Amino acid sequence: GIPEAGWNFDNSYARLPKSFFAKQNLNPVNSPKLIVLNRPLAASLGLNAEALQSSDGAAVFAGNRIPEGAEPLAQAYAGHQFGHFTMLGDGRALLLGEQITPGGERFDIQLKGSGRTQYSRRGDGRAALGPMLREFIISEAMHALGIPTTRSLAVVTTGESIMRETVLPGAVLTRVAASHLRVGTFQFAASRGSAGDLKALADYTLQRHYPEVETGGNRYVALLREVIKRQAALIAKWQLVGFIHGVMNTDNMALSGETIDYGPCAFMDTYDPAAVFSSIDLHGRYAYGNQPPIAAWNLARFAETLLPLMHEDEDEAVKIAEDAISDFSTMFQWNWLAGMRAKLGLFNEEPEDEALIDDLLDMMHKARADYTNTFRALTLEQPQDTILSGAAEFAEWHDRWQKRLDRQEEPKASSHQLMRSSNPAVIPRNHRVEEALEAAVNQEDLSVMERLLSALSNPYAYSPEQEEYAAPPEETACPYRTFCGT
Ligand code: AMP
Ligand code: MG
Ligand code: MG
Repeated sequence: GIPEAGWNFDNSYARLPKSFFAKQNLNPVNSPKLIVLNRPLAASLGLNAEALQSSDGAAVFAGNRIPEGAEPLAQAYAGHQFGHFTMLGDGRALLLGEQITPGGERFDIQLKGSGRTQYSRRGDGRAALGPMLREFIISEAMHALGIPTTRSLAVVTTGESIMRETVLPGAVLTRVAASHLRVGTFQFAASRGSAGDLKALADYTLQRHYPEVETGGNRYVALLREVIKRQAALIAKWQLVGFIHGVMNTDNMALSGETIDYGPCAFMDTYDPAAVFSSIDLHGRYAYGNQPPIAAWNLARFAETLLPLMHEDEDEAVKIAEDAISDFSTMFQWNWLAGMRAKLGLFNEEPEDEALIDDLLDMMHKARADYTNTFRALTLEQPQDTILSGAAEFAEWHDRWQKRLDRQEEPKASSHQLMRSSNPAVIPRNHRVEEALEAAVNQEDLSVMERLLSALSNPYAYSPEQEEYAAPPEETACPYRTFCGT
């Protein structure tokens, strides 16, 4: 017989005040078929991959069957989308519940593309196969890169077509997250809930993600400061690998500090602070170089929701909030510099390091150098492989860098190790992701994606099998574009 799947749900979110969610019936689909299952992730959640691969497993992942102990619900939230405040909520997602792992950890299990809810507005509640596989690939690549992120457990096709600009195969993604608490959840509470609801949400968030915070002072000030700290670390990691989220609306900023909501995101090839891929980001609000200030902007929206909890005097509360928000850029810069030093093999700090880094980035910008491969070539001690190699300016920079390395105590071999573990040899380049999706969606050939996932699963390996994935795309007249809402 089939072994037990190992579901072990708790539903703490469903114990929050009623305004935060709507209990939701399932919207079954025609014929669920499991397309991809993340076996290592399943195992770490205490789930049995064999059981999940049965028709019962596919039925759970499609939202056709409620696993034992789950209490499906759609979450309410609000958010600033491109700067405009809107009431939102899970319009095409269902929280099944929280899986408690054998180690006692708690993870949200969410179905994305599972049908309409009361928050769907005009949407059909469904998702297309291509974008769900895309989230699978990129979120798993981010995890392998060591970046906090929601993860992807499975994708099923539904056997149903969905209408977009063309007819597309429908699919459901099972997303695993530390939680789906967002800045937008607090915005919802602050604009719609009672003072008690807001406090309940803040207490819940503290307990779930920041149980260790000191309660000496005001706990909600501590919450704000901790969320800011985690976001500063997260956004620095994005910048260091060239990840562009694409839609940093406040509903897409998780309070856990995980990257969430892979829509029009992309990795940059050519280094350019103004890089934007999203077709709807017309003014570059969410451009690569704008991500840190936009994160600070989002965190200010979060701080506003906490004002009544942080101090009884509003002016005092605003001062506390402004003070905390102003620390973001310092913390971001600290994290980013530490990461950049590691990318250049530097263990200690010297005042001129920032100039050394900025000068390299300036040269890369001017030369339209490939971001990942420039650092890769420096790591492999093959600077002649970079587009910069011809310039006298680069030779001079390289000499400065070598002298800087010589001034630190650590041997060259240690620097080399540090660089290898800080500079990925492979990233999910857009043209390779597209190629994998094309084969999966149009040819029903999953092998291209499986090979890509395998290359991305150990981005710091520098193995010969990864070599082909390091190549940047050919220059084309038509820039790469990403789309959301599919
Ligand atoms: P996102 O752009 O993914 O952050 O989603 C923004 C909002 O639109 C969320 O409330 C989603 O639940 C909702 N949404 C996106 N696509 C759909 C869809 N196909 N049907 C219903 N709601 C959707
Ligand atoms: Mg979203
Ligand atoms: Mg989305």
